Amino acid sequence: MISDDCVHKIELDNLENGEIIKHTILLIKGHIRQQRQAKKCREQHILLRVRHDASVLDATWELQIQSKISRTGQFKLLCDFAQHELETVCTRTPLILNFSYCNIVYQCEILYESTAYSKNNYRLQALYITCVNQKPLAAEQVHENCEKINLNLRLVQSVYAEQLRSAGYGRRTFTLNNDCKVFESHLTCEEVWEQSEESLWQNFAKEILNSSTWGGEEKLKFVAFIGCTKYDGAAVAVTGDFSYSNIRKHLKGHAALGGGGLALFGAAYLYAWPRSFNEINACFGSNKLIDLTQLPDDSNYRRTYGGVYATTLGAVVHEIGHTFDLGHTKDGVMGNGVDYINRVFTIDNLTEHLPERVIQRPLPELRTEIATRPRFTQLKRATNTFLEKYHEQKINDSFYFTPNCVIILAYNKWFRNSNDYNAEENTVDATITYDAVNSCVIVEGHENQLRLIEVRSIDNSLVKYWYEPQSNKECSEIYKFYLPKEAAKVLGENHYLFVLTRSGITKRFCEN
Ligand SMILES: [Zn+2]
Ligand SMILES: [Zn+2]
Repeated sequence: MISDDCVHKIELDNLENGEIIKHTILLIKGHIRQQRQAKKCREQHILLRVRHDASVLDATWELQIQSKISRTGQFKLLCDFAQHELETVCTRTPLILNFSYCNIVYQCEILYESTAYSKNNYRLQALYITCVNQKPLAAEQVHENCEKINLNLRLVQSVYAEQLRSAGYGRRTFTLNNDCKVFESHLTCEEVWEQSEESLWQNFAKEILNSSTWGGEEKLKFVAFIGCTKYDGAAVAVTGDFSYSNIRKHLKGHAALGGGGLALFGAAYLYAWPRSFNEINACFGSNKLIDLTQLPDDSNYRRTYGGVYATTLGAVVHEIGHTFDLGHTKDGVMGNGVDYINRVFTIDNLTEHLPERVIQRPLPELRTEIATRPRFTQLKRATNTFLEKYHEQKINDSFYFTPNCVIILAYNKWFRNSNDYNAEENTVDATITYDAVNSCVIVEGHENQLRLIEVRSIDNSLVKYWYEPQSNKECSEIYKFYLPKEAAKVLGENHYLFVLTRSGITKRFCEN
C-alpha cells in the first residue's frame, strides 16, 4: 500500500551514476533508509526497471527485477544483460536504471560494454572434457552442462569485478573468451576414473597445450570440467560412512585444482548448479537435502543442494584465483571463506558455523618456476567462536579476497583495463633477483618497481607474511626491498618468496 506519509530514501552501495559495466551479470546492492515510515506502509519489495536510452535505440527493451527488502532495509538485485540483444548494438550502451519503492523513485544511468569490444586479449576459456568412449546418448547432458558452466562463469566474473571494486580498484575482472567448448581427450572414461586428481590435471594440461585448437594460445587460461566424473553412491551406502573423505573416495574422475594455465573440476556437482539465470537465487537458497546414496556431497557438511552449489562455485572462484597467482590465506576466498559465496547474493543471512578447513599440499605447476599449486580437502572441527563468525559474516559476507590477493589480481594481465595497455609493453625485459646474503629483493628495468612481496609456505602456499614496499622522501621509486628479520628467518625453513612488480611481473624464489 503506497502512502504519502512515508519518507524513504533509496541508496545504492556498489553502483555509481555513469559507471561502466564490462561483465554481463550485475549484482546491485543497496539500502532503503526509512526516514519516516507511516504505520500503514507495508512495502516489502523494491522494483528495478532497466531500459535503453530512448535516443540510442528505438527498440522497446525492458528488464524488470524485484528484490525483497531485508529486516535492515538491504536489497540485492541481480541483472543479466546478456539475455538481451545488447551485444551487437554499439560499443557502450547507455542503460537507465529506475528503482521504485513505496512512494519514491531513484534513477541512475550506467554504460554497458559488451565483451565483444574488450581490448584485453588475455582471456579465460571454458572447456568441457569428453572421453574417446563417451556414450553418444550423453550429448544432451553435455549441452546442459556447458550451459551451466557458461552461466556460472559469468557469475564468477561478476564476483571478481565486485571484489576488486570494493577494494578500490574499479570493476576489474577477467574476460571470457568464448562459450564453453567441448574438448575431446585421448583418454577413455576408465583411464580417467583410475587417475588421481593431480595426474588428471597434468594429463589434461598437457593435452590442451598440445592440441591444435588451443596449443598456440599463450594468452588463454582454461577452466575445464571433466565430463565423466562418476559417483558410486551404492558403495558409500554399504559402508554407512557418509563423511566427506569417504564420499571423495568413491568419486572417480573428479578434481578441484587450479594453477598455471588451468583450473580443473569434475562435473559431478553440476547437478546443484542453475542452468538459467532465473534459477540462480533458488539454487543458492535451496534447503533440499541430498540423497547421499545417489549424489555426492561437497558442501562442508551442509548437505543441501544450496550448500553444494555454494561450496563448488566458491571452489571455482578459489581455483581460478590460483591460476592468477594467488596463494592461500587463512580467511576469505583463498581460505576458510570458500564455502560462503551464497551470502554474496542473498539477504537476511543467518550466521553459518561450518568446520574450518585445513590447507594442505603443493603440486607441480605448468608454467611457473616452483611448486605452488595448492589445494585443500581435509576438514577439521571449528575453533572460531560463533560470535567471531557472526561479525565476520555480517561485515563482508565471509566471501572476500584479502588485501594481498586483491593487489595480485589488480596487477594481473588478465585483469587489465584498456587504459593500462602501455604498461604491457614494458613487462618484457624486467629482471627480478633475490640477494640471499642481504635478504634483499632487487628489480631492474624501467617502470618495474616492486609492488608486493609475499612469504608463502612451500607445503601449502599459505601466505605467512606480506609486504607492500612503500616509497619515502629519499627514494620515491622502489627497486629494492630488504626483508624484515621474521621473513628472512622463515625463508630458510620451508617458505618461498612471491614477488610482484607494478608492471605485473611475478616471480617466485626458493632459498634451497
Ligand atoms: Zn512507505
Ligand atoms: Zn587452494
